[in-house]
Formats: sequence, C-alpha cells, structure tokens
Amino acid sequence: MPPILPAPQIPSSSPQPKIAVIGAGVSGLTTAWYLERLLPSAQVEVFESARQIGGVIQTTHADPFLVELGADNFATLVPDALRMVDEMGVRDEFIGPKLDHRIAQVVRDGKVLPIPNGFSLMQPTRLSSVLSSPILSPAGRLRLLAEFCVKQRVSDEDESVESFAVRRLGRECFDRLVEPIVGGIFTARAETLSMQAAMPQFVAMEREYGGLIRGAIAKRNSQSRAERSARQARGARYDQFLAPKQGMSWWLNRIAKSLRNSIQIDRRVESLFKNAENLWTLNTRSTSDSSERTQSQLGYHAVCLALPSPRSALLLKPSHPRLASLLERIPYASSAVAVLAIKRSEIRPKAFCFGVVVPKLENRDCLAISLASEKYEGRCPKDLVLVRVFMGGAIRPELMDKSDDELLGLARKEVKELLGASSLPRSQSLVRWNEAMPQYLVGHPQLLVSIRQTIQDDPSLRLVGNAFDGVGIPQCIRLARQSAEHFASLFKDK
Ligand SMILES: Cc1cc2nc3c(=O)[nH]c(=O)nc-3n(C[C@H](O)[C@H](O)[C@H](O)COP(=O)(O)OP(=O)(O)OC[C@H]3O[C@@H](n4cnc5c(N)ncnc54)[C@H](O)[C@@H]3O)c2cc1C
Repeated sequence: MPPILPAPQIPSSSPQPKIAVIGAGVSGLTTAWYLERLLPSAQVEVFESARQIGGVIQTTHADPFLVELGADNFATLVPDALRMVDEMGVRDEFIGPKLDHRIAQVVRDGKVLPIPNGFSLMQPTRLSSVLSSPILSPAGRLRLLAEFCVKQRVSDEDESVESFAVRRLGRECFDRLVEPIVGGIFTARAETLSMQAAMPQFVAMEREYGGLIRGAIAKRNSQSRAERSARQARGARYDQFLAPKQGMSWWLNRIAKSLRNSIQIDRRVESLFKNAENLWTLNTRSTSDSSERTQSQLGYHAVCLALPSPRSALLLKPSHPRLASLLERIPYASSAVAVLAIKRSEIRPKAFCFGVVVPKLENRDCLAISLASEKYEGRCPKDLVLVRVFMGGAIRPELMDKSDDELLGLARKEVKELLGASSLPRSQSLVRWNEAMPQYLVGHPQLLVSIRQTIQDDPSLRLVGNAFDGVGIPQCIRLARQSAEHFASLFKDK
C-alpha cells in the first residue's frame, strides 16, 4: 500500500492555493465555478485543448436554426444541474419541453409506434397502458405481467441490463422496449452495460419491494390522488427536463464568463508531474500551432482532471501508474449525429413525437432520431422540422468508418423510411463525437471503488467527468461540486 501523500504545503510567499482544472467541458467548467465560490482565495486556472469550451456540448446558430450538436437538455430528477442554474440566478433563461407531441416512439417491423405512457425506462408504471400497446405480442404482455411473481434475485453481484430486464420482464419486453430505450440513452450495448451503474434505482427497487411492478404499486400507494393524476397526465415525465432558451452553449459560456481567470483555450496539457516540493507542473502546447514549443506551467497545489478517462490515464501514467491502469479499463464509444431540416408537411402525422428509438433487432442504421424542434421552442422556422439522427455508438461501431457523406445518406434514408420525409433536406450537417461516451461495463461500480481508494492517497488530485457516476449533465455537475468541496476543505485553513 503506497503511503498517503500529505496535503501540499502552501508557502507563506504564496497565500493563495493555485488549482489547475484540465478540460473545459461541463465537468471542468462547473468544478472551476464551484471552486471559486467555495474557496474564494483560490487561483483557479482552466486549460482546454480545443479552440472552444464545452466539450461534447456545442450549440451552433446558423440562421434560422439553433442546433444542438450534443446534449440538448438535462433532467431535473437528479437536482444538481437545476440547483446550479438557480445558484447562478439564470432560471428565467431556461424552458421546459413543448406541450404537443409529448411522446417517444419505438420502431416495430419498420413502423413507429408510441412507447406506452405507463412504461418508464424499464418499469411498467401503469399496466393498462402497457398491456393495450401493440408493441408487445400477447405472449410478451403475459410474460411482462408475470414480473409480479418473479422471485427477487439473491445475489448482490452486478449484472448486465439485459440480464436484469430479461430475468424480470421477459425477452420480448427487453428486445422491443428496454434495449432500444437504454441503448438510445447510453449508446451502449445492454448485454455488457452494468445494471448497478446505469440504473441503480431499479436494482434498489427489486431489493426493497421484490420487483418493478411491486415497486410501482408501492410508489402509487404512497402518493396523494393529486400527485397520481399529475403523474398520469400525458407526457408528464417530460416536465422533468429543461433547456436554455438560447442553447446549451449559452449556459456554458455564461459559466465561463463568470470565472475570474479567462479559460486558456487551444492549450492541451501534454504531461503532468510533481516536483520535489509536491507541487504540480503542467506541460502545455497549442493544439493549432504545431510549431509552438512546450510551455511549463508551474506550481499548482492541486489538479482536477475533467477529461475522458483514457486521456486522464495518459497524463497520470508517470505519476500515478496504478490509477492510470484502472482508468484505462473504462472504454469509450464514438457516435455521429446527423442534423437535418426537413419540410414539416412531409412528415407523416403519426410520426410526430419527441423522439424515436430503434431496437437492435430491427437491423437499422440509426440508434435513435430526436425531433429537436418538436421538443423545444425556437429551434427552426415553423414550416420545418429539425431532426437529429444518432448513429454508431457501441451498438454499431463499424458505421464510424463511413465517410460523412455516406452517414448523411444513411440518415436521410432513415428519416424517409421512419418519418416519411422524402425530399432533400433544407439543410444538413454531421458531427462526430469520437470516444465521447464512456461504457459502464458490468463491474463498473467495483472499478470505481478501486479508483476512489487509489485516489485517496493523493488529496491534491481529483477526477471528474462522465466516466464515473453517470453520463448525464446533472451527475457530471454533482461530481464536479463534490470535488470542489473536497479542495475547499483541504485548503480552507491555509
Ligand atoms: C451526442 C450526445 C448527446 C447527449 N445528450 C445529453 C442530454 O441531452 N442530456 C444529458 O444530460 N447528457 C447528454 N449527453 C451526455 C453529456 O453531454 C456528457 O456526458 C457531458 O457533457 C460530458 O462532459 P465532460 O465535461 O465530462 O466531458 P467532455 O465534454 O468530453 O469534456 C472534456 C474536455 O476536455 C478537453 N480535453 C481533452 N484532452 C485534453 C487535454 N489533454 N488538455 C486540455 N483539455 C483536454 C476536451 O477538448 C473537452 O473539451 C450527451 C452526450 C452526447 C455525446
């Protein structure tokens, strides 16, 4: 067991703790924001290799379109993103989803069909709505009903989402509903995705109530009549989402502008080490100017890495080899998003919805389609519909070898066949997110325990980002705040 390193000493000549945050995606930005508030004496410096901040959150404004290339909203059920919006005093700048077309659909035999209102991620919350849906065959519905009688699992060991869902709900419900919904959210393969990491709430529900239907009944019994009818209102679950009126980048730019030090963009951290006084040195270089020589940034008392974990592993290999080898065990998947503006009049009336997910069983080229302009106001002119077609991920990694033109062609074909829009889009673009989505494989929670135990040895180092406690923006912000709290308590008496 390596010795626990002491907290870095702050020399009397330097009364401020100097902290480097590496990466200016939402995780790095919010770490810096909370650090400045919780530890006002700190000098916080943020380094970003790209020429813009935001990481995988990017909004483009190509008149008349407001296009989200990555995340387009966040959930409020995990309250940390909303909490930060409130702390920033910008709640008025955020909007909820539109009221029309508040449904999600799933493809069955090449046709889009509404996902029953009473089916939430993998839980039947209202049996009548699930049992009357044509998505499942009569045998599939019966098997789903039998979930009530499926024995509780005895083992506490992690299992895959596929194993949990097939065991409790049956193969057909997994193939037709759970796999496409979960695949659409995590761009992950349900057969390797960790149930405990991706959907711990349902593991806890099985443990506490004995199953998913029993859990839904217990929750309903604990709710008042008013709460029940509010929950059952069509599309009520969409009330749990928010988006900035002016796009996600507006929000992140607002965070960046409120920081005391401007962010050092176009500045990739190439290596990291600690000197004899236990202070960190960062070697950085311009990403765009290859002739620039490496610059050394000296004397940081602490470092927070807000990077995809393989990048953190590379930087930590020399100083923290065991931690680096643990981080390397979190794989990432790449995906592409095609954004098409299509004529509203061409879309089949029944295809209007917030989004369509596609079961692997259907053998199609897209994972999901999001109708961005139907979700939030102000995304495109009224006679058009802005759609985002998601491709690749861990489910179809081979598609990432195709050219941009080929992927746009596939996206147009999918939109034509599934939504009905056949003429050329009014505008089209494609973005690739290479190695952007961490894959929480079975055993991820145990891996996290090892990572956390290892990092305890060095209080001057913290890791944030989507590789750990959740890929959603609220989970990234929660971890960022916790890391800022850690540094605040480490340096508060200095
Ligand atoms: C297509 C897509 C749609 C999504 N939709 C949603 C959604 O609707 N809602 C939701 O909650 N979540 C969504 N997510 C997930 C969520 O957006 C991400 O998990 C989250 O934004 C990750 O933020 P991050 O800061 O941890 O990482 P990143 O955004 O990856 O940021 C890491 C930053 O580090 C920089 N960097 C890398 N190496 C270096 C280096 N050596 N030196 C300096 N800088 C470096 C990178 O350039 C990057 O800016 C989506 C993700 C994708 C890909």
